[in-house]
Amino acid sequence: MQSASLFERASAVTPGGVNSPVRAFRAVGGVPRFMTSGDGCHITDVDGNTYLDLVCSWGPMLLGHAHPEVIAAVQAAVSRGTSYGTPTQTEVELGEEIVARTPVDKVRLVSSGTEATMSALRLARGATGRDKIVKFAGCYHGHVDALLAQAGSGVITLGIPGTPGVTEATTADTIVLPYNDQAAVSAAFAQYGDLIAAVITEASPGNMGVVPPADNFNAFLAKTCTDNGALFISDEVMTGFRITKSGWYGVDGVQPDLMTFGKVMGGGFPAAAFGGRADIMSQLAPEGSVYQAGTLSGNPIATMAGLTTLRLATDDVYAKLDETSLTIQRLVATALEKEGVPHVIQAAGNLFSVFFVDSTEGSGVIRDFAGAGAQVLPRFAAFFHAMLDAGVYLPPSAFEAWFVSAAIDDDALADLESALVPAARAAAAV
Ligand code: PMP
Repeated sequence: MQSASLFERASAVTPGGVNSPVRAFRAVGGVPRFMTSGDGCHITDVDGNTYLDLVCSWGPMLLGHAHPEVIAAVQAAVSRGTSYGTPTQTEVELGEEIVARTPVDKVRLVSSGTEATMSALRLARGATGRDKIVKFAGCYHGHVDALLAQAGSGVITLGIPGTPGVTEATTADTIVLPYNDQAAVSAAFAQYGDLIAAVITEASPGNMGVVPPADNFNAFLAKTCTDNGALFISDEVMTGFRITKSGWYGVDGVQPDLMTFGKVMGGGFPAAAFGGRADIMSQLAPEGSVYQAGTLSGNPIATMAGLTTLRLATDDVYAKLDETSLTIQRLVATALEKEGVPHVIQAAGNLFSVFFVDSTEGSGVIRDFAGAGAQVLPRFAAFFHAMLDAGVYLPPSAFEAWFVSAAIDDDALADLESALVPAARAAAAV
C-alpha cells in the first residue's frame, strides 16, 4: 500500500506524519490515505482508490474538487504571477463580495482562520481597552494560544486537556464557559463585566460535532455584550458561505460586532478574513493603531479562487446543498436504525454530524461539550473504517462535522447508501 509507505516517510520528517493533527487517523486507527487528485465529489489516493468525499478539505470545497471555472480562473491568475506584495483588484472584489453577503462593513484579508480569530481578538482588546475574553468549551477557533483552552476539533479528538507551550499568563485572561449556558454567561459578566473585551463563539459550533445554538443563544450573547460594553465576535470560519450565502448569520440574523471567515472564501487556497463594524475596523493599522499585517494576505491566486467560488455559489447551489445534506442524514439514520445502532444526528443547515451515543434515552439532544463527549468511540471507529473500505471518506473523528459539496449527484448517493449497509453492521458489532 503506497499510502503506508508514504506515511512511513512522512513520519520520519514530520511529527505524526501529518501537517495538521486532524488528518491523522489517531482516533480511528490505521494509516491516513494520501490523496493525489480530486474531481467533483470524489478524491483519489496514491493506491488508485476513489472515495466519495464528505470532508471537502474540512469545508472549503463547497462546489466539489477541480471545478472547471475555478481551475480556469486560477490558471489564468497563476500565469500572471503568484504574488506582488501590492494591492490588487481581485482583493477589492473579494472584499466587496464578503461585505455584500454578510453584515460586516469592512473586512481585512488574512491567510488562515487562526490568523483571523487571533487578529479579531487583538482588535477587540485594542478597541475596548480590556483584556478578558470569553470562549466556550468545545468551540475551536484555530490554534491561537489564548483560545486553545478546552478547544474542540483535533484538541478533543486527541484528548489534549490544555496545550503545553501555552503559558498560564496567556490563558489567564480567557474565561471558558459551557456552551449554550446563559446562566454561566450572566455569572461571568456579573463577576468580570467591565474587564471583558469580547465573547467569541462559533456561530453554530461544528468542532465538537454539530451543536447548534439553543434558545436564541447568539442573540442573548450579542445583547449581553452590548449591555456590558464588550464586543460579540461570531466565528464563521466553518459556517460562513457554507450554510447560506452569508453563513449561519443567514439563519439567525444576529448582528455581531466582529466576524471571522475562512475555508469556502479561499476556494481551497489559504485565504481567510475578519471584518465588522466600520468604527471598530478603522482602528486597524494603517488607519488606526492596532497592528496587523501579512506578506501573503490577499494573495492573487487565493483571492481569485475564493472570488470565483463565491460567485458560483448561488441560491440554487445552497438549495441543492440543503437537499443533499437532508438525503444523506436520512440515509445514515435509516441504515443505523435498521441495525439498532443508537445515534443522534444534529444539523445546522447543510452541516451535520452523527453522534454515536451510548443510548438514545433522555432528551436525545446534544447541547454542549460534555454531551458531545459521551460517545462510544470504538463504534465510530468501526463505522469509519467500514465506510472507508466501501469508498466513502468521512472525517476521521467522532467530533467533527460532515461536509457536503454541490457536486454530489444521485450516483454518489446510491454509492453512499450501499456503503452504509456494511458500515452500520460494523458499528452494531462493537
Ligand atoms: N474557526 C473555526 C470555527 C474553525 O472551524 C477553524 C478550522 N477548522 C478555525 C477557526 C481555524 O482555521 P484554520 O485551520 O484555517 O487556521
